[in-house]
Formats: sequence, C-alpha cells, structure tokens
Amino acid sequence: MGLNLLRILSNILLDDGSFVLGCVEFDRIIRSIRKECKPDLNMERDFMVPAGIDLHVHIRGAQLSYKEDVRSFSMEAARGGIGLAIDMPNTEPYINNREKIISRLEELKNSRIDYALYSGYPEEYVEDLPIAGYKLFPQDLERNLEPLINSKKLKILHPESPISLKEDRRLRNLWEEYFGIREMYGHVHITHITSKYGVELSKRMGFTTDVTPHHMLISRERTCIEKVNPPYRGEIERRLLNLALFEVDAIASDHAPHAKFEKNMPFSLCPPGVPLVSFTLPFVFSMAIRDIISFKRAMELVSENPSKILGINMGTIRVGNRANITILSREEWRYSTAFSKATTTPIDGYKLYVKPVLTIVEGKVVFDQENVYPIQGVNPFAESERFQ
Ligand SMILES: [Zn+2]
Repeated sequence: MGLNLLRILSNILLDDGSFVLGCVEFDRIIRSIRKECKPDLNMERDFMVPAGIDLHVHIRGAQLSYKEDVRSFSMEAARGGIGLAIDMPNTEPYINNREKIISRLEELKNSRIDYALYSGYPEEYVEDLPIAGYKLFPQDLERNLEPLINSKKLKILHPESPISLKEDRRLRNLWEEYFGIREMYGHVHITHITSKYGVELSKRMGFTTDVTPHHMLISRERTCIEKVNPPYRGEIERRLLNLALFEVDAIASDHAPHAKFEKNMPFSLCPPGVPLVSFTLPFVFSMAIRDIISFKRAMELVSENPSKILGINMGTIRVGNRANITILSREEWRYSTAFSKATTTPIDGYKLYVKPVLTIVEGKVVFDQENVYPIQGVNPFAESERFQ
C-alpha cells in the first residue's frame, strides 16, 4: 500500500511467449494487463519483458568494497534490466553462520534492486533465516552433507575444478563430485557449466543448470581481463556450449568485479572473474531479436526459469506477480559497464541489438536510461516480503 498505480503501454511479452500491445497496471504487484487504458507512460515503440533474475553474482561490498559495493553493483544491475540478483557467500568475511548472514543481509539493504544470498556450507543451523539456499564448492562435497540433505532450500553447486575437460584427472573429479550430489535430495542447481557434456550430465541427473555469457562467447584466456574460474574450454567446447543453449535452464552472469590494480598483475597472480551483470539480459534478448532463439526461450533463460528455481513469484508478466519489469528498445549499441567500479570487461564493444531503457523494481522506476534512482530493493525470501 501507499504506492500509486502506474500504467505503462508497451508491447508486452506474455508468459506464453506471444506479444500484445497493451497496458500493464501495477503497484508492487501486477494488477491488470489490458488492451486499452490511459497510460502514464507510453512506450509502444518498445517492448516489455520481465526484469532479469541473476542466480549467481558476487556483489562484493564489506571488506571488498574497493572492488565493488552494494550500491555500485545494484546500479549496474538495474541499468542492465536486472531486478533481482543472488549473492554468493565467498565474500570477505565468508558467509556461513547466523551472525554473518544477518549482518550481510543488513548490508544488502543498500541495494537498489531486489537481493538475496546463499549461505556457504553452514557452521551451524541457519535453515530458518531468509536465505535463498546453500552454495557448495567441490571441496564441500567431502563434508557431512546430512544437514543439507534434509533441507528443502536450493543447493547450488560449483561443479568444476579448474583442470581442463580433456585431462582425465579432472574428468574423474567431476564424476566423483556428481556421485556425491546424487545422494542429495531437494533441488540441486549446477552453476556455470562450461561444457555441453556437463549440461547433459546434469540434466540426466535431474538437476537444473546455468551457463554464463562469457563461456558462450570466449574460448580462451589471453589476458587477466578475461581470466575466470572455471576457465574457458577452447573453441570446440565453446561452440558445443552454444548448442546447449536449448537445454540449459538459465543464464547467470557470475558477475565478479576486481580492482584495476588486481587485473594489472601478472597473469599467474591476477584474480579470476569478469563483471558482466548488465550484459546478460540485453545479450539474451539480442539473440531473440536476431532469431537465434525465441522470445519465450529468452524469457525462460533470464527470468522465468530462475524464478522457478528459486520458488518465487516473479519472472513473468502475469497478474499477481511482483512488478519487476524491464522495457527494451530496439537499437544497436556497444557494450560497456556504466556504474560498476569495474570499468573494463572482456566483452567491451560487443554489439547488442536491444537496450534496457526502463527498469522497474517492486513497482518503482529504478533506472530510466540516464539515471538510477535511490529506491530500496527487498529480499523476497524474508517472511515480511512474502505476499500473494
Ligand atoms: Zn562465481
């Protein structure tokens, strides 16, 4: 309550993948979708999609604020059409107990978009806290998984060691890791899969998966700017991974900014990670514009499936869903970051065919081409934020 209804006229991407020129009326929730109305904002030349949901980001902040802070991260995300991002626990300090989760959630209140976090392998009982789930690294699979087996929350797994797919040892590691998670119940999601083989293996085991835009576009590391973990797997694997775009559940950015001085270190010393939170949504919808994938598939990858994986009511433009909405204009532009503290990415200058021109979070305009406004995002996993 307390929020006025806003009506926007645009070409609305409905949840069946079709478009309708009409009006969406919303406060915090989408109240109606109508063919005719008197709009507050006429954007009939553009099209309306659900705001993106990024399942895997490193917001930084706290002691790592020199790389990125909650404010700069969320401004960059809003500008990329993202309405919700889920933070990984490997911050400084590492998030794996009640006290650290509670204080991290306090810090994340500075976010201008919706936010949530995964706990690392927990030191104690944290199941009752408003977390999105648990993040497990390969080494965590050797620990006692008993507490997580009984948890209904999402388990998100970093499946790969950095060793190349072609090397037997890595392959053996992979099988061992998968064998480990096979014994786990509840929803398991495998993040940043780098090979088609990995996608197929995950699907066979009934897990959901995501890939990153950079693993789809880059085949090898030449400089520190491109360096990531897991590493790129070469040109053949890259092409195969692009074919897997029809099988994966989601695309996540794995936004991982670093300071310039860190990326300027010698290759063996510089930290892995690329800052692409604002790239994912326009990249995926550019593929739809170019007929590489359908608009329905684009929506599934960036918002609908992530929402289902998390079990929340957003990700589609549907009456009763949260009003997290992005308006895209059809225009050619070249990618670079705008608000992130990380100003260089390996994809700078990449040609995109759609541009986010308006981002709405919780029914409020957070980004409008030029400006990012100081609205406050919410944690959709908090009890107070759960509504019909
Ligand atoms: Zn990551």
